[in-house]
Amino acid sequence: MISVGISAVNVSKSFSNYAVLRNVSIDAPPNLITCVAGPSGSGKSTLLRIMAGYLRPDSGRVLINGVDAYVDSRARSIINLVSYVPQDDLLISGLTIRENLRLALRVQGLSNRVIEERIKWVSGLLGIEHVLDKRPGQVSGGERRRASIAIALARDHEFLIMDEPTNSLDRANVDLLIRILREEAGSGRVVLVATHDQYLIRNSDRLYMIRLVS
Ligand code: ADP
Ligand code: MG
Repeated sequence: MISVGISAVNVSKSFSNYAVLRNVSIDAPPNLITCVAGPSGSGKSTLLRIMAGYLRPDSGRVLINGVDAYVDSRARSIINLVSYVPQDDLLISGLTIRENLRLALRVQGLSNRVIEERIKWVSGLLGIEHVLDKRPGQVSGGERRRASIAIALARDHEFLIMDEPTNSLDRANVDLLIRILREEAGSGRVVLVATHDQYLIRNSDRLYMIRLVS
């Protein structure tokens, strides 16, 4: 357990009596790329959802900079600094990519000027300028993935949690993503990823293997 970063402490979770996580403890400290790997169905996505503050565990605790994410009244403001990219892109289908970005940033209370600056910066970084005015259904899987990643990066955040971020990305974009994750960690942020991508695993600093609960 650590006082800075995100920790899961003895977390258990079942879905209708089917145990997915049993007493799982992991620490994701700042400055490192922490990776959760393991077979399909082992509970990686469930664990990340719990650690991102989206799904309450049956037992155990999630500490974000020492604040209990599901108990402490201070948790709301700190969870706002968690940028979470789910395994399936959560873009609003009726809005363009640009409008999706604007909405996510407006929710954080950023000014219009800052919002437009961030969109310009992040779309250049991820090479998605050409799809900004298209809706999610009109772009490729890799472009959608980069749009989801763009939202996470453009928000104010201290904690970056990404579920299978390399899905649908080609090799050049996987390399780009790894450079970005390295920079995020290097600037003192928490970077936590779930992946089965061996290349991403090899480029992480800390690896947790999760097994199927028997
Ligand atoms: P992984 O990401 O490692 O592939 P998941 O966390 O997505 O694993 O899922 C772990 C297990 O929990 C799977 O058997 C999955 O079917 C089940 N599961 C996940 N979410 C739910 C849910 N909301 N309701 C019921 N079962 C779920
Ligand atoms: Mg998963």
